[in-house]
Amino acid sequence: MRRILLLSISCFILTQTIAATAPLQAPAPPPQITAIRAGRLIDPDTGTATPNQVIIVDGARIRNIGGANLAIPAGAQVIDLSAYSVLPGLVDAHNHLALTYKTDPENNIYYLTYVLDSTAIRAIQAVSNGMQMLSSGFTVVRDLGNNGNYADTALRVAIEQGWVPGPTIINSGIIIGGMGGQFTPTPEMAKDHSIVYPEYLDADTHDEIVKAVRQNILFGAKVIKVCVDCKPYPYTLDDLKLFVSEAANAGMKVAGHVQTYEGARRAIEAGFWSIEHSGPLNDELHKKMAAKGIWRAGTETPFTPYRGSQQAFNRTVEGMKNAFANKVPMVFSTDADYYIPGMTRGEVAINFLLSWKAAAIPAKDILKIMTTNGFKVCEIDKQRGPIKEGFFADMIAVQGNPLDDIDTLRKVQFVMKNGMVFKKDGVMVPEKFFNGGPVNGWRIR
Ligand SMILES: [Zn+2]
Repeated sequence: MRRILLLSISCFILTQTIAATAPLQAPAPPPQITAIRAGRLIDPDTGTATPNQVIIVDGARIRNIGGANLAIPAGAQVIDLSAYSVLPGLVDAHNHLALTYKTDPENNIYYLTYVLDSTAIRAIQAVSNGMQMLSSGFTVVRDLGNNGNYADTALRVAIEQGWVPGPTIINSGIIIGGMGGQFTPTPEMAKDHSIVYPEYLDADTHDEIVKAVRQNILFGAKVIKVCVDCKPYPYTLDDLKLFVSEAANAGMKVAGHVQTYEGARRAIEAGFWSIEHSGPLNDELHKKMAAKGIWRAGTETPFTPYRGSQQAFNRTVEGMKNAFANKVPMVFSTDADYYIPGMTRGEVAINFLLSWKAAAIPAKDILKIMTTNGFKVCEIDKQRGPIKEGFFADMIAVQGNPLDDIDTLRKVQFVMKNGMVFKKDGVMVPEKFFNGGPVNGWRIR
């Protein structure tokens, strides 16, 4: 009786103690040690593969890497990928996860998608699209606008705080352009800034350019996206230089959507970080980009039953060949912002391999473009991407050797992000990513 009473008292005290201290304690479980046995560890940067490696992951980061004899800490969870090639995650350097236009109902006219879909539904689409990209091995996505009222920032923050799984997002906020952006709003729409706004931030004067850059940074952009020449009143060289200096003032780079020769020439001259799309890029501009080290995010759409034409594809492939021959720094980029029935967003994106193969670029170069170059254009390459000690534990696994056969990337069997398993044996198992609150802290913005 007395023991029961004592027990009750101690239980009471314990309960009170927990009740008093729980709100102050960080919900940090002991870091999980994971040991990954890799049949082959691929380094896309050097184009080499090392057999039978062990990767020790401590919490979110890679602790050490060694041969098969590397000591595995007691209690570590062992993941056997000895039948696979383990490699860094992939990067799509140009997508729009909070935009999904469709045949039904809008006949793929994305002008209408903006009218039909709220920012709220688009933020939810973005979470789903992010998971689909991650399942296809894309651990990083550069998300360049067309996301309503900052659904891209919401996606990035939700992933970084730890609410949902998804790729590392480098987002641009709202695309900045001359009045109207890429659209042709009616006078009624433009005057009241209704319907197709806030899809674009109008910035026509230097004051407006400064304000627009600052607004995007304030609302969570990590890169600035500019519509250089979407209208018959393209930005001047002076305008474009102002974008670069104003972004640099906040430590950021500028990505330029270009669709004319003159627009591309000015963006290159102004020192833009990356050129988005490849339509106007010719041998002369490629040579200038190579000399200045400007990234080419060409968004090279393959000719498929659901997209493109043979003629456009031939032009795209010729451009890729010319860029590669000129040693332009290239990244893998898709602009895959549409729904193809029967395909995930990740499957649509990885199918862009068709273009890279058609350009006869060797598999090991394609792989480097999809990884090393992607980490660099996103400016994360010092802490995330490469499989290196101290780096965040992001990696994928495929059967076969992607250095020889790039199509092995079409069937990603394993995905790890931040040391947590998202996909295993070809099946998504993302339980650890779902949390009822910001487990990494709400201050991440
Ligand atoms: Zn785009």
